[in-house]
Amino acid sequence: MPEDATEELTYSATSTSTRSILPADMISVEEARARILEQFSRLEAVEVGLLEAVGQVLAEDVVAGFNIPPLANTAMDGYAVRAADTAGATYEDPLNLEVIGYLPAGEVYDGAVAPGQAVRIMTGAPIPDGADAVVPFEETDEYGSDVAYDPSRTSVRIDVEAKPGANIRVAGEDVREGETVLPEGAVIGPAQVGVLASLGRDRVLAYRRPVVAVLSTGDELLRPGEPLTPGKIYDSNAFSLAAQVQSFGGIPRVLDVARDTVEALTARIHEGLADADMLVTSAGVSRGDFDVVKTVLANEGEVGFWTVKMKPGKPLAFGTFRGDGGKQIPHLGLPGNPVSAMLTFELFGRAAIFKMLGKEHAWPRPVIRAVTKDRIRNTDGRRFYARVILDEEDGRPVVSLTGPQGSGVLTSMALASAFAICPEDLETIEPGEECDVILVDRERAQYGSAASAQAAGY
Ligand code: AMP
Ligand code: MG
Repeated sequence: MPEDATEELTYSATSTSTRSILPADMISVEEARARILEQFSRLEAVEVGLLEAVGQVLAEDVVAGFNIPPLANTAMDGYAVRAADTAGATYEDPLNLEVIGYLPAGEVYDGAVAPGQAVRIMTGAPIPDGADAVVPFEETDEYGSDVAYDPSRTSVRIDVEAKPGANIRVAGEDVREGETVLPEGAVIGPAQVGVLASLGRDRVLAYRRPVVAVLSTGDELLRPGEPLTPGKIYDSNAFSLAAQVQSFGGIPRVLDVARDTVEALTARIHEGLADADMLVTSAGVSRGDFDVVKTVLANEGEVGFWTVKMKPGKPLAFGTFRGDGGKQIPHLGLPGNPVSAMLTFELFGRAAIFKMLGKEHAWPRPVIRAVTKDRIRNTDGRRFYARVILDEEDGRPVVSLTGPQGSGVLTSMALASAFAICPEDLETIEPGEECDVILVDRERAQYGSAASAQAAGY
């Protein structure tokens, strides 16, 4: 479809009616996204290993079966004592206690601390009966000593008075038995994984990751690794899109490039869709291309063609595909141009994957205001997503264009750390003016900018 076409066309093998997923006119990015998201829902809960769950959403309330820590224990290496016994101790006038034992972490002291006694104790070890405070080594004659522990030691000098409870972590300080520690709906990150592990959990219920089938279409395409021949290009979309799927938390399934006959393609897509939750195609569904892919997509489901007020990436197909067993699989048909394909998937595919993961509201990227160093032009009333490098000058965020902004210039995506937005109703943003900037990749901000890397270095 030429990028300036505005008409809408609906293909349906099953129905001639226009459903809600098939809008008739040019629509905004927000409207397109809302209509797409209607067709997705959160996937079912599955049990997964802890590390696998990172980025997924908890599908259960996690309730503590015991206190953490289970027993009162020492926060310092030192001596477990009865606080009353240390009353009046000072550096000038210290006192001595009898050492009755040694307790490493992981063991429980078999006995009790009586008046005048102390147990040498290592961080994390449970407080022995009778003791109610820990005097750290720094406040004893072990201060500054790097001499190995002498098991024949019978007394310790106490230099500082200890208050009851000093350096003791009480049982249940972190987590109380019966408490809901992590609620259903929590996004699982490193800290949540740590908390689950601290509860002894090695598996957890989380909403399933979506499997996203990625299909490239076009007779010009070769797979990387094949020899380049005249007239051909390598299929980059399958890989950039699959990588996006993966980075958004989905499981990509790259199907073979589609050409061939209707029969062969139909069979191939069905094979690839066997357990897919979403089908993403690039190219081949253009309004002008009455090609095999489009015929198959129309035969096997329902597909509508939208013109979205965005650039790059206006032509967009969306519909549903009938998988085996009658399962309706949402189909997102992206433009073929490599930048358009990636940008539309960033704007629509990311939200869809997040919704299936159960974190629908987490898809938006952070947006900041930044001053542009280059003129950003919007020629035709569509929202322009300029690929920019985010930098910092005089303590303020600034952006500059990555270079040529054509929708085939994939290296503009590789250089970009952000998208600067030129709104639909604005023709140009002049150098020195501010604009909204979507932060796509904090890590890549360093690529063009030592300054912003430093700014992030807290
Ligand atoms: P189309 O949407 O088929 O008109 O394609 C638009 C442009 O994107 C053409 O220059 C195609 O060669 C290119 N293109 C289509 N699919 C891919 C792909 N998978 N990888 C790289 N370029 C592609
Ligand atoms: Mg084509």
